[in-house]
Amino acid sequence: MVVQSHPRPLTFQVTLTVLALAVLGLGLAAGFGLLATLQVDRTAFDTQRTFLVNGLKEEAQALQREQESVAVWDDAVTYAKSGNQQWMTENLGAWMYAYYGHDRVYVLDDHDQPVHAMRDGQTLQPQVFSEDQNAILPVVGRIRQLLAGSAGSEDTASKAAAEDLVTIGDRPAMLSVMPLVPSSDRVAQSPGSEFVHVTVQFIDDALTDRIARRYQLKNLHVLPRLTQTITDATVPLIGTNGVILGYVGWEQARPGASLVREAAPALFGAIAISAAILIYLLRRLRRASGQLQISQDKARYLAFHDTLTGLPNRALFEDRLRRALVNADRDKGRVALLYVDLDRFKHINDTLGHPAGDELVRQTAVRLVQSVREIDTVARLGGDEFAIILSGVKDARNAEDFCDIVLAQFSIPFQLADDQVFVSTSIGIALSPDVGADPDDLLRKADIALYEAKKNGRGRYQVFAGDMDEILLRKRRIESELREALTSGDQIRLTYQPIYAGDCQTIVGAEALLRWAHPIHAALPPGNLVALAEERGMIGLLGDYVLRQAARFAATSTLPWVAVNVSPLQLRDKSFPERLARLLEECGLTPSRLQLEITESVLLANNDTTRSVLGALRAAGIVVALDDFGTGYSAISYLRHHRIDKLKIDRSFIQTIGNDASAAAIVKALVDLALALDIRVTAEGVETEAQKDRLMAMHCDEFQGYLLSPPLEAAELSAVLAGGAQPLQMVRSRD
Ligand code: C2E
Ligand code: MG
Ligand code: MG
Repeated sequence: MVVQSHPRPLTFQVTLTVLALAVLGLGLAAGFGLLATLQVDRTAFDTQRTFLVNGLKEEAQALQREQESVAVWDDAVTYAKSGNQQWMTENLGAWMYAYYGHDRVYVLDDHDQPVHAMRDGQTLQPQVFSEDQNAILPVVGRIRQLLAGSAGSEDTASKAAAEDLVTIGDRPAMLSVMPLVPSSDRVAQSPGSEFVHVTVQFIDDALTDRIARRYQLKNLHVLPRLTQTITDATVPLIGTNGVILGYVGWEQARPGASLVREAAPALFGAIAISAAILIYLLRRLRRASGQLQISQDKARYLAFHDTLTGLPNRALFEDRLRRALVNADRDKGRVALLYVDLDRFKHINDTLGHPAGDELVRQTAVRLVQSVREIDTVARLGGDEFAIILSGVKDARNAEDFCDIVLAQFSIPFQLADDQVFVSTSIGIALSPDVGADPDDLLRKADIALYEAKKNGRGRYQVFAGDMDEILLRKRRIESELREALTSGDQIRLTYQPIYAGDCQTIVGAEALLRWAHPIHAALPPGNLVALAEERGMIGLLGDYVLRQAARFAATSTLPWVAVNVSPLQLRDKSFPERLARLLEECGLTPSRLQLEITESVLLANNDTTRSVLGALRAAGIVVALDDFGTGYSAISYLRHHRIDKLKIDRSFIQTIGNDASAAAIVKALVDLALALDIRVTAEGVETEAQKDRLMAMHCDEFQGYLLSPPLEAAELSAVLAGGAQPLQMVRSRD
């Protein structure tokens, strides 16, 4: 009876899913963010690089433009060729430094011999050119080639220019070379005689500062050719010969990264808040899913357990039984199924109330559970019905031993509310066969055995025996045939045994007796038929049928009254008097013409309903007779408690009158008692003249017996009443 506790997969799954989603979301956001940042930085880098390259180009173009302003000039040709150092300094050399910031200027004659030299604004001996000539002469050579190619064309000569990036004194520099050409016709210059103007601008901090300012590049600087670490943010300076002269590097602006840096606190704050919210939601989710899990577990528990006792219910019981039988088959063992039912549970419910009934069921469950082993199952099938599955049972004896333990548990009184109550229980036992047990079959057999136990006196157990099955089947067959007979209405009929007045001459009434005209069941004594109807819950149906038949007959006959036997069960129905009154009205019979014969057991039960039903019947004018008096407890006290109109002394007393003196004395005493209580007396089963005489002498009120008349068909009785026939001559056996 241990309730399985399940792990909490739902909670776990929910938490895992939410966490996985959160991590995935965060990862995706971070990934996209990083990618976007890198992309922004990459684009920014490309832009910065383009700016720098453009800046360098612009510087080179400016260098050329500035050089052109002096190279195409009549005076420059004239004065250079005349070797006027003064003029060259003021217009071609130091002037270039002062005005444009060019670092070095050389003027070479038509044989590429230096005629003028300037460095950092200082005019020097032209021979210093030799220090720089290796870098410069190849470019000058290109100009000379250009000039030779365009021999004679002044226009081409004026536009000839060569530029390059070169290393001068280990420093990268921009170099521009142009021939000095006249700006007008006033000065003539023969082709091949051109002097050239060489100007050098070092790529230095001053230059990079200019570019940096123009394009807002940060920390622009020149890196030597042999820089160890070349970071991304550099542009190589490459001469026309493809040689790298050095680099211009800058501090790369990373807008993406700086945005991230700036937004970081806010970002972390947002993540922290999200995490907090997530944790909060997760907690709530966990709690909610936990509760859901609990209610799921509860629902599962409720589906398989009885709420009152906590025992397995029928569904779980059936499952356990099936398993037990499968295991028994495998292990070559047997299973005993015990059907346990409390005796008179309804009575306790009726008298002590439903809470006490519930309490009794609970305590019973506890006692049963205490009586079994761990491996056995105790289940509640409903109401006061329990079932026990015993596994590994060897034989019936084994199961009976166990039942002794259970019954012993019930010898202890139950404490219900303030009362101590003794409650017995009946047990039906069915043992599984050696192989191939069917759970339904086993249940049915245990049920039959339980029924037998109850029938045999309660507070006991009964092992199912083979023929019980047959008996039950037969009962079922009879039951369905009886039902059919009651609906068709032609097989069930009544015979009427006349009852005579004290003079044994006058018919004062008749008792209706049940007969079943059935090919087989006709032999069934009415007492058995009634018992069967009671057992199968058909007594109401049968009882009403008899009452209607009898009332109809009485209404059409001159008979003073008709007596009908009623079962105790009929009297337990509160609505009985009302139904009967309606029925009598329907048949047109006054209530005083109906007598009801009840048995002692009715009075013995001492049931409130029965008492009020009897009162109502008598109040309606119906005579109530106590049948078969003397066979039961015959307690005088209940004759006083229940108002009875008539006593019918059982025929077993009447028939001993002739041969047993004490029997006669008892009958005499009974007649006197009735007289004292003002109750009429009928003698049943008067068979001999001697009996009749003795009874007449005792002043018995009424007589009934084969001596006077056997039970007659309705038509026969009518004939007798009409005076057409003599019942005394028609002595016949019961049909
Ligand atoms: P009971 O109410 O005591 O009915 C009298 C029984 O004694 C009848 O048997 C009747 O045939 C029989 N009897 C009458 N005179 C003599 C006699 O001189 N000698 C002998 N040996 N027997 C005599 P029956 O018809 O077999 O009925 C048996 C019992 O079945 C009845 O006993 C009554 O308790 C019950 N019963 C019959 N019909 C009904 C019915 O419609 N409803 C109910 N609830 N019970 C009925
Ligand atoms: Mg009777
Ligand atoms: Mg009787």
